[in-house]
Amino acid sequence: MQNSKKGYFGDYGGSYVPPELQGVMDQIEKAFETCKNDPKFNQELDYYLRQYVGRPNPLYFAEKLTRKLGGAKIYLKREELNHTGAHKINNAIGQALIAKFMGKTRIIAETGAGQHGVATATACALFGLDCVIYMGEHDTRRQALNVFRMEILGAKVVAVNHGEGSMKEAIDEALEDLAQNYEDTFYLLGSAVGPHPYPTIVKHFQSIISKEAREQILEAEGRLPDAVLACVGGGSNAIGAFANFMEDSSVRLIGVEPAGLGLETGRHAAPLAAGEPGVIHGFRCYMMQDEAGNPLPTHSISAGLDYAGVGPEHSYLKDSGRGEYVAVTDQEALDAFYLLSRTEGIIPALESAHAVAYAAKIAPTLSPEKILIINVSGRGDKDVQQIFDMTR
Ligand SMILES: *Cc1c(COP(=O)(O)O)cnc(C)c1O
Repeated sequence: MQNSKKGYFGDYGGSYVPPELQGVMDQIEKAFETCKNDPKFNQELDYYLRQYVGRPNPLYFAEKLTRKLGGAKIYLKREELNHTGAHKINNAIGQALIAKFMGKTRIIAETGAGQHGVATATACALFGLDCVIYMGEHDTRRQALNVFRMEILGAKVVAVNHGEGSMKEAIDEALEDLAQNYEDTFYLLGSAVGPHPYPTIVKHFQSIISKEAREQILEAEGRLPDAVLACVGGGSNAIGAFANFMEDSSVRLIGVEPAGLGLETGRHAAPLAAGEPGVIHGFRCYMMQDEAGNPLPTHSISAGLDYAGVGPEHSYLKDSGRGEYVAVTDQEALDAFYLLSRTEGIIPALESAHAVAYAAKIAPTLSPEKILIINVSGRGDKDVQQIFDMTR
């Protein structure tokens, strides 16, 4: 293992990968640095974000929700209106374009809940790239419909059945594939996690969320919001929603983790609220770990937030105090899922419902002059079956 000094956010981040993979990471970093400053690359990215993803999406004033909660004014950043129904497509398209720039013809990715697999398979269909998605066998059974979606889109889904057949084994398998096939293969990572340069790349492509939201709130209100709220799994939608407000010290940046059955039960996925610094999947961050530093099992009602680690920049923002990190339980998220559905006619993803839940807690304590922006990272259609099964 080698620990490159690049890509640190305070004590977090870095690249803890075997030497044969470090060379690959360095190439990806170089390609990213070239692409992000290349007008032609940015023109093509912008074209697909507009014409294919449907950006810019609205910043919607949730008047009914605001009235019902009786406090701060609430705006919703509508990432759930994107093609494929969430923010993940912003990053999938960006990284697929880097892969194309590098001359790669084959994309690999790992997915737990299946949402990143679907976004990746979508981008590969769009750009004519071969697509292989690694998934723990347990997850392929839980997420059978998403597996089928990826197959419809032309991807090959590989069920990883050694070890515990979980996301960890799927990541190991994907990294092994990359080490062997890097000449034609690109690893498309789905959240603001992993070894450098991935957290920086993912932030870059998700920052479009706050670039738009900043312009939109200035247009609507003539001033910046008092707080931006987003749910935190790996942290990509949150870092994208925070990025362009980072320098505005008057804007509170609030990340909401899943407290699952309650932080005190240990059955949660809230490493910032209840974890310790450690190394997971090639980078350093707050993580849920046992005495030996191995990742602990996690729990959340929302599969997309179910991860023992968290992005390195969030780990740093927690320590520096610039970010505020809180957690809400499964039940609070479920209540917020119904609250937004019934007051605004918007069914949020269970992930996004965590951010709604915390906004619903603080809005009534704030005066009506205050403004909150909630990033609605995805739509809840994918969760309807789960909630149907739970409530029957
Ligand atoms: C995957 C997912 C998340 C969690 O991932 P982050 O990287 O933390 O954003 C949140 N919301 C939705 C809708 C997702 O699909």
